[in-house]
Amino acid sequence: MPRDFLKDAADEYDVVVIGSGLAGMTSANILGSAGHRVLLLEQHYKLGGLATWFLRPGGHIFDISLHGFPHGMIKSCRRYWSRDIADRIVQLTNIRFDNPQFSLTTSFNREDFTRLLTTDFGIAPQTVSDFFDTARGMNFYDDQATTTRQLFDRFFPGRDDVVRLLMEPITYANGSTLEDPAITYGIVFSNFMSKGVFIYEGGTEDLVARMKKELVKNGVDIRINCGVDKIDVEDGKVSGIQVGDRKIKCRAIVSNANLRTTILNMIGPEKLDRDFVDRTQAVRLNNSSTQVYMALKEGEEIDESSGDLFFTSTAKEFRTDLLLSRDITSRTFSFYYPRTRPQKKKERYAIVSSTNANWSDWSDMSEEDYNASKADLVETTIEALERYIPGVRDKIDRAEAATPVTFNHYTRHEMGASFGTKFEGLGVSRELPQQIGGMFHAGSVGIIMSGWLGAINYGVIVSNEVDQLLFNESSPV
Ligand SMILES: Cc1cc2nc3c(=O)[nH]c(=O)nc-3n(C[C@H](O)[C@H](O)[C@H](O)COP(=O)(O)OP(=O)(O)OC[C@H]3O[C@@H](n4cnc5c(N)ncnc54)[C@H](O)[C@@H]3O)c2cc1C
Repeated sequence: MPRDFLKDAADEYDVVVIGSGLAGMTSANILGSAGHRVLLLEQHYKLGGLATWFLRPGGHIFDISLHGFPHGMIKSCRRYWSRDIADRIVQLTNIRFDNPQFSLTTSFNREDFTRLLTTDFGIAPQTVSDFFDTARGMNFYDDQATTTRQLFDRFFPGRDDVVRLLMEPITYANGSTLEDPAITYGIVFSNFMSKGVFIYEGGTEDLVARMKKELVKNGVDIRINCGVDKIDVEDGKVSGIQVGDRKIKCRAIVSNANLRTTILNMIGPEKLDRDFVDRTQAVRLNNSSTQVYMALKEGEEIDESSGDLFFTSTAKEFRTDLLLSRDITSRTFSFYYPRTRPQKKKERYAIVSSTNANWSDWSDMSEEDYNASKADLVETTIEALERYIPGVRDKIDRAEAATPVTFNHYTRHEMGASFGTKFEGLGVSRELPQQIGGMFHAGSVGIIMSGWLGAINYGVIVSNEVDQLLFNESSPV
């Protein structure tokens, strides 16, 4: 008999949260602490979604998406999670770039970028200041027709090197490109520039364990290995969910699963306005990623001068198609020193190389070709790293790769999307409750709601809306 992961679950809850990514967990936590009966359903055997990690023999732990987020995470975690979590967020100060146009090290904030742009790149101080102010002044209600490329052309015409410095980390941080609306760049860039790049000290497993503790404390019923197949709708309102043949009733649903999958598969087009379905079908997914995880043998070290985050590229110029190409030219290395996990007795060093990637380059291969391509990815990445850390190959105990197919497998994100959808997904996500009463979506959409901070903040926004709905429904008229 397969194990029943819904054993003893109630037949009815106030809210069901589908998916335990950062947005889903944050929504569940806020709604649980507000006193609602919350059921959190996760299809995977682990909580966290893309905020995840894996273990390998020899005591190696690899983080998938713990590379950097803006300072705002401290405030969001303190307010909506715990001081314990917020206090473990620390700054990364050694951010490096190396490409045919420039090589530099920065603490990645406005002050240091101003220094670099004016001294190393020779841009007039007033232009730099105006650019920062323009980026910081952008908000969601601004003109959405201007692209990031047009924004750069306005301030730095003909300066591909400047564009590369300003854009490469943001493409890495939220998958946005020069062709996307400028606000998707401006908001995220300004978030980082306010104070720099931060990570969670303790590793992803520690963060998710602390979040789980909070969820339990707040009475959230958590069930793993429970993939929701269907969302039930009656008289234009959600009435429950189905996991296999088990039906559970609820008054509201927050789906943290992929936006398109939620609407087109779990709800189904027949329950929605034609125009809304058309707009959902037109929502483009964000690109995916490949990663190579490398762990050093016990006792081997990497010097901290290697940096925390290292943006490398061999491409002569900065182009979106080159960033995504299977013929890899750009690799961002994250270095994990023992300080990443101070709680561990054994000192361990790991390096994760990440590159943006297209689903189509990996999805249709035979098993043999797929495995050979992964092996090639590992090999060429170690070769690339050898250029910066000679002899590193001999220090590596274990190396393996993940592809868009891996991300799709573990999260069910269509095409293995790393950052949900492109910008148009945000409008569709926000409109869902008007289509079906009590039906909400929270998760990476529209680039600005992506990444760890974007996902958490979107979870906050949506939980407030759900709380309001439940409050209004239960208040006497
Ligand atoms: C390689 C990579 C590197 C990244 N690096 C960074 C970084 O350095 N900094 C940063 O801020 N962000 C980074 N990100 C992005 C960041 O990890 C994500 O934007 C964020 O974690 C997404 O959170 P989410 O709430 O949207 O949910 P997700 O993490 O997408 O989780 C969705 C959850 O829903 C579950 N689910 C799906 N369908 C169902 C179903 N039917 N029933 C039940 N459960 C379901 C999935 O299993 C998953 O747990 C990176 C992403 C990738 C892939």
